[in-house]
Amino acid sequence: DSSSGSSRFFSKRTFPGRVPAGIGRKSMRIVVTGGAGFVGSHLVDKLISRGDEVIVVDNFFTGRKENLAHLFGNPRFELIRHDVVEPILLEVDQIYHLACPASPVHYKFNPVKTIKTNVMGTLNMLGLAKRVGARFLLTSTSEVYGDPLEHPQKETYWGNVNPIGERSCYDEGKRTAETLAMDYHRGADVEVRIARIFNTYGPRMCLDDGRVVSNFVAQAIRKQPMTVYGDGKQTRSFQYVSDLVDGLVALMEGEHVGPFNLGNPGEFTMLELAEVVKETIDSSATIEFRPNTADDPHKRKPDISKAKELLNWEPKNIFESRIASHGE
Ligand code: NAD
Ligand code: UDP
Ligand code: UDP
Repeated sequence: DSSSGSSRFFSKRTFPGRVPAGIGRKSMRIVVTGGAGFVGSHLVDKLISRGDEVIVVDNFFTGRKENLAHLFGNPRFELIRHDVVEPILLEVDQIYHLACPASPVHYKFNPVKTIKTNVMGTLNMLGLAKRVGARFLLTSTSEVYGDPLEHPQKETYWGNVNPIGERSCYDEGKRTAETLAMDYHRGADVEVRIARIFNTYGPRMCLDDGRVVSNFVAQAIRKQPMTVYGDGKQTRSFQYVSDLVDGLVALMEGEHVGPFNLGNPGEFTMLELAEVVKETIDSSATIEFRPNTADDPHKRKPDISKAKELLNWEPKNIFESRIASHGE
C-alpha cells in the first residue's frame, strides 16, 4: 500500500535536495514537536547549527514564536502551527516529541487537554514514525516515579503515582506515552528512544509559568517574597538546559532505547534553593511560606549511571548538593 511504500522510500534513501552536514554525515530532516517551548527551542538551535533541516510543530499553548524568531528566514527551518492531538503527514528522518505543557500550573490548567496531548499526540507521532520509518524520541519525565519510595531514582524503579490526582493528567499521561512508545517499538519495529527528564532551568523559561526556579528568580528581581510551598524541605535536582539538550541528542543518535534518566544529581531542598537565589540576586530577599500543592513529591534525585555508561553523557554544569544526605 502507499504508506508502506513511502516508509521504504524515506527510510532507505536520502531526501531529494539534501545537503551534506559536515564531514561524514548527511543532513537529516527532523521534526521537533513543542519546538517553540523552553527545551524545544534550545534543541532546535543545536540541530540547525549542526546542519540539519528542522520542522517545528507547535500549537503555542505554552511556547512562543519569539523563542525561534532568530531562525525565521533560515531555509533549513520551518514552523508549523499544529496541535499534535490531530494527525499530521510529514516526511522526516527523526522525531523529537516534546509537545506537552511541562509546568504544573500549565498542565493542570486543562487536564483533559494535557492527557489528550500525551496519549493522542504521542500516538499520532508514533503513527507518523511508523509510516515513514523515522526514529522517535519521547521526552518523558521524572514525574513517572511519582512520590518515590526509592531514592535516588533508577530507571528500574516503577514509581509511586496517584492515578486519580491533580498531577495524573501529566504523570499518568507520560507513563502511557512511554507504554505507547514501547508497544510501537515491539509491535511495529519503530526505533524509539525514551528520556526521563528531571527539573531543568535556563534561558527562555516562562517567567510566570509557576516553576520554582523561575518563580524565585522573578520574585527576587521584583522585590517580592519568594514563595516556598509547604515546609520547603522537599528536594529537587536541577539541570541546566544545554546539558539536557546534549543528552537528548546523545540518546537519539545512540543505539539504546532507554528509558534514560537525564538530570543533575545535585539535590537541593526548596529552602536551600531560595538561599542560593538570595545570595545570587538580592541579599535582602525574604521568604513567605504557602500551603503546598496536592501530591507534591517529597524528594527527587536522579541516578544517572545508566546514561553515563551507555550514552557517555553527564551534565557539565554541576552544582554540588549542600546537604550530606536525605531521607534517613
Ligand atoms: P514548554 O511548556 O516550554 O514547552 C512545551 C511546548 O509544547 C510548548 O511550545 C507548547 O506550546 C507545545 N505544546 C503543548 N501542547 C501541544 C499540543 N497539543 N500540540 C502542539 N504543541 C503543543 O515545556 P518544556 O519545559 O520545554 O518541556 C518540553 C518537554 O520536556 C515536555 O514534554 C515536558 O514534559 C518535558 N519535560 C520537561 C521538564 C522541565 O523541567 N522543563 C522536566 C521533565 C520533562
Ligand atoms: N498518523 C499521523 N501521521 C502519519 C501516520 C499516522 O498522524 O503519517 C496518525 C494516525 O492518524 C493515527 C495514529 O497516527 O491516528 C496511529 O497510526 P497507526 O498507523 O499506527 O494506527 P491506525 O491508523 O492504524 O490506527
Ligand atoms: N515550589 C515552591 N515555590 C514555588 C513553586 C514551586 O516551593 O513558587 C516547590 C513545589 O512545591 C515543588 C518544587 O518547588 O516541591 C518544584 O516545583 P516545580 O513546579 O518547579 O516542579 P515539579 O518538580 O513539581 O514539577
